[in-house]
Parts: sequence; C-alpha cells; structure tokens
Amino acid sequence: MKTADIMARLQAKYPLEKEYLQAVEEVLESIEEVYNQHPEFEAVKIVERLVEPDRIFTFRVNWIDDNGQVQTNTGYRVQFNSAIGPYKGGLRFHRAVTPSMLKFLGFEQTFKNALTTLPMGGAKGGADFDPAGKSDAEIMRFCQAFMLELWNCIGPDQDIPAGDVGVGGREIGYLNGMYTKLARRYNTGVLTGKGMSFGGSILRPEATGFGALYFTQHLLAAAGKSIEGKNIAISGFGNVAWGAATKAVQLGAKVIAISGPDGVCHIPDGITKEMIDYMLVMRASNRNRVEDMADRFPGKAIFTPGKKAWSIPCDIALPCAFQNELSGEDAQELKANGCWCCCEVSNMGCRPEAIHFFQHNGVLFAPGKAVNAGGVATSGLEMTQNASHISWSAKEVDEKLHYIMHSIHEQCVKYGTQPDGSIDYVKGANIAGFMKVAQAMLEQGVC
Ligand code: GLU
Repeated sequence: MKTADIMARLQAKYPLEKEYLQAVEEVLESIEEVYNQHPEFEAVKIVERLVEPDRIFTFRVNWIDDNGQVQTNTGYRVQFNSAIGPYKGGLRFHRAVTPSMLKFLGFEQTFKNALTTLPMGGAKGGADFDPAGKSDAEIMRFCQAFMLELWNCIGPDQDIPAGDVGVGGREIGYLNGMYTKLARRYNTGVLTGKGMSFGGSILRPEATGFGALYFTQHLLAAAGKSIEGKNIAISGFGNVAWGAATKAVQLGAKVIAISGPDGVCHIPDGITKEMIDYMLVMRASNRNRVEDMADRFPGKAIFTPGKKAWSIPCDIALPCAFQNELSGEDAQELKANGCWCCCEVSNMGCRPEAIHFFQHNGVLFAPGKAVNAGGVATSGLEMTQNASHISWSAKEVDEKLHYIMHSIHEQCVKYGTQPDGSIDYVKGANIAGFMKVAQAMLEQGVC
C-alpha cells in the first residue's frame, strides 16, 4: 500500500472532507511501513476497508424553540468499525458539525478504542445544533427530538453513544430518558456518561482529564522528568479541561492559563479550587466566554481578548478544546516561550505542521487518541458495571483507569521507540491501534 495512492483516491471521492482526509493521512503515514511487512493484510485490502465507515445514518431533527418557532437541524451517527466490539463513541452538538468532522472523529475513535484494551469498536455522531445561548428547555427538546430519530440504530450490544463537545451529563440524561420511553425498556447500557442515580459510573465526568494527566505523568517519567511544580497552559473550560485542571493541581502542577473562543485568562498564581469549580458554571451557562472567569476573579485571572492559551509562557501545553486548535505558528510561539511538552487532549487538536514542528524541535508530543482515551475507557468500565448490575467505588474505577493509561503508554513505547531510543508517540499509538483492528478484521473474513 502507498499512502499517496490511497489519499489520491479518497481526495477525488471526498474532495470537501478536509478533517477526514487529514485524520486518515496522519494514520496511513505512520502505519505504511509496518503494513507493508504484512502481505496478509494487503491480500484482503484491510486499509481500503478500514478507511471507510461501515455506515452513516443521517436524519432531520425538528424541534420547537422557546418562541414557538420550528427549528430544523441535521443529525448523524457514523458507525465506523465494529471489528473489535460494538460501536462506541460520543455525540457532538456544535454548529460546525459535518459528515467530514464525524468521519474523522469516528476513524480516530476506532484506533483510540483499540488502545484502551477494551472490546469497543469506533463510532461518532452528533448534530449541527449550536447549544450556545439555548435555554435548558430548548436543550431538552432538541435532545428528545434527536433521540426520536436515533433510538433504533443503537443498543447496548450494537452502538453505545456518549458525550463529546456540547454533550455532557445534562444532555445524556435527556437522551437516556427519551430512549427509555421509545424503546419501552430500561437499558442501562445504551448510553454512557449517565448520572450516578441511573447507571452512571463514578469518575466518568473526570475521566478524560484525569486519564490525560496520568498519561502525561508516564510520558514525563519516560523522559526522566516529573510534573510537580510545572506550569501548564490549558485551552477550553468544558468537561475535559475541567478534569485536566483538577488532576494537574492534585499532582502539584500549576495551571497558569485557560482559554475560550473569546480569548485567554492568564492566572499567574495558578488556578484555585474555586476557579476550577467555576469552570463548570461557565460550561453550564452556554455563554461560551472565558472572560466570565476574569469577571468572577478580578486581579487573579487576567483576560486578554483574541489570544490563545499558547501565548502564555508555560512548560506543558494541554489542548483540551477542538480539532486543529493549535497551529504551526502556535507551536513556534510555545517553543519560543519555553514550552517543552505538548500532550494533545482534544481529538486532533494540533495541526500537522504543529506536530511536525514539535517533533523536530525537541518538544515532547503525544497524540489525542492515546492521551484522551481515558474518557472512552471509563465509558467501557461503565458498560461493564451496567452489564453486571453493579457499581464500583471511586478507588476501583481510578485504579482501572490508571492501569489502562499505563498500558496505552506501554503500547506507544512498544511500537514507537526509534533507533535513537526516543519515542515517537504518534507512530506508537497509530501502529498499536491499527495492529489490533487489522488482526481482528483479518480473522473475521471479508464482511
Ligand atoms: N467523546 C469522547 C471521546 O472522544 C468519549 C466517547 C465515549 O465515551 O464513548 O473519546
């Protein structure tokens, strides 16, 4: 297989699907050499099959806003690959959602889920619905209308959605309530990220951020460094950024910046517990403004409009917001300001030029599919608890999450160690995820 040939075919077929093409190219470039050492994969066209989703559901979502007006959005579920388990992946509600975005996310999810060591295939879904400025009642009506279309495409052994950007505990609650009504049965395992009173797992809300920090600890240890006392810049203030900030502070680091679409808050003395709690209030308000932090903590959080977190000098950068949020220029600015490590927590948060710059300028870098896999891994743990009708303690879930993040790091080391002893985490994560999915596809025949 030649990456260039496959990319040329996909570009001709899907010329407008930029994010999807970007995600596929990154993976194919990493795996090309290993793939070509396995003629048995080539014989059954594993790569050609793996880059296309199994199927995509597209549906219209009609709902009524608080003014009594009919609104129309488009919803999707991309069931990408089920070679190693039922389809699993989040739902994203954001005005910019397109099939390209969800195909890239479903493709990434397939490898990420393989890395978790748990039996979960890859999927993603969502809608071009913009939660910004919507009332709670509007969010509920939208979630109900969305589930009306989705419910018979999903199930505990079939496809298990969860949250993502714009979909948190509140939205999962509304989705689950409507699913139960439509299916006329109580399936605790059909969505993950549920509330604690109806089958949710303890630590699931924190898990993506906590897992990212556990992975970062392993990466730093492998480089002979530690996280204590380091300055960390974080983008975003949603669920993932909140979990990352919480664990970073617990581990003795200082979070000196958080950012939003409107600009950045510099927090020279480090984020406090009150500020971390306030991130949840900001997320729930649907205002999508980080300036609210500066208004709430004057003199402690200093807001600069139009700037990113990457403009604040730091040791470690943690992109926790959206794909392609960290550009090549941002990478250069980070390095010039002393940053020496970037762990990508958002899915495909860094542009390819940024990753290239980090890797060639001595900045430790690890990709989202390894760093943020603790979220979906804990969803997998939620599924296990639901299927066995039990609930584990925080200690039990945290130990399992620790074990999984350690194992993901080990897989990156196994497949990513270079002849000079350095670790290429992009290669490591992509090859490890690919080998598992490819082997499962091979053994199950062409179907
Ligand atoms: N949306 C999260 C992710 O990107 C979590 C998915 C899940 O828990 O199914 O991995």
